[in-house]
Amino acid sequence: MIEKEKPNEKSNIKKVIAIMSGKGGVGKSTVTSLVGTALKEEGYRVGIMDADITGPSIPKLFGINKRRAEADKDGISPVNTSTGIKVMSLNLLIDREDSPVIWRGPMISNTVRQFFTEVTWGHLDYLLIDLPPGTGDVSLTAMQSLPLDGIIVVSSPQDLVKLIVKKSLNMAKIMDTPVLGIVENMSYFQCSECGKRINIFGKSRVEEIAKEMGIGIIANIPIDPDFTELCDEGRIELYGKINYSMLNDLSSSLMKVIGGAK
Ligand code: ADP
Repeated sequence: MIEKEKPNEKSNIKKVIAIMSGKGGVGKSTVTSLVGTALKEEGYRVGIMDADITGPSIPKLFGINKRRAEADKDGISPVNTSTGIKVMSLNLLIDREDSPVIWRGPMISNTVRQFFTEVTWGHLDYLLIDLPPGTGDVSLTAMQSLPLDGIIVVSSPQDLVKLIVKKSLNMAKIMDTPVLGIVENMSYFQCSECGKRINIFGKSRVEEIAKEMGIGIIANIPIDPDFTELCDEGRIELYGKINYSMLNDLSSSLMKVIGGAK
C-alpha cells in the first residue's frame, strides 16, 4: 500500500475532500468554489487546491488570477481570496495565465503531491481539491497518495442518466475512497418572472439513479445566469448575497455528509 503524504509542519488540515466529475464542463470548479464559499460563510477555515493542472480555473473564479503565490524557506504560500479562502493553483505560479502547461502525467501528479506537502496551508478545517475531469492520473494520485476523507461527485442531469459518473464512483470504490454524495449541477432553471421551474433536460431522474448507485444527493443546483456572471467577474464569493437560501441549503447538506470540523 502506498503511504499517504503528510502536510508540512506549518500546516494542520482536519479534512481533505476532493471534487470529481465524469467529464469537463459540468461545473465542477464552480461547485468546488461554491462549496468553499458555503463552508467559509459557516465560519470554517477553508483551502482550495486547484489540481486541474492543465486547465486551472479556480483563481479566475475568485478574481485572484493576477496575483502570484510566493515561496520562502518554509514553502509556497497560498493566495487569500477576499473572504480569506486560501488558494493554490499552478496559475498562481506561472508568469502568464495563458501559457499552456505542456507536461507529462508524472510531472503533473508530482505537482499535485507538492501542492499538498509544500504549500504552507496553515490551520484548515477543510481542504477542497478540485480534480481534473475524468479518472486519470491526478485522480489516481489523489486517491492513492493524499489522505482523502471523501469525494464529492459533480454531474449534470444528462451525464447522470448516461451513467458517465459511474466511472468516477467505481474508481472511488476500487480505491477505497468514501463517496460523500452527488451534486447535480444545472439541475433546472427557475424563471425569475413567474417562478416556474423548468427541467431543461427533462424530468430529473437524479434520485432514482443515485438510489440505484447507493449514493446520496447533496444538492441540486439550478442553472443561474447570475452565477455565470459572478464567475466571469471573479466574484463567486458574493453568491450568498444573491441566493442566500441556496448557499445556506448547500451548507446544511454538506454538514450532514462531511461533518463539522471546527
Ligand atoms: P468544469 O470545472 O466542470 O469544467 P466549470 O465549473 O468551469 O466546469 O463551469 C463551466 C461553465 O459553466 C462556466 O462558465 C460556469 O460559469 C458555468 N456554470 C457552471 N455551473 C453553472 C450554473 N449552475 N448556472 C450557470 N452557469 C454555470
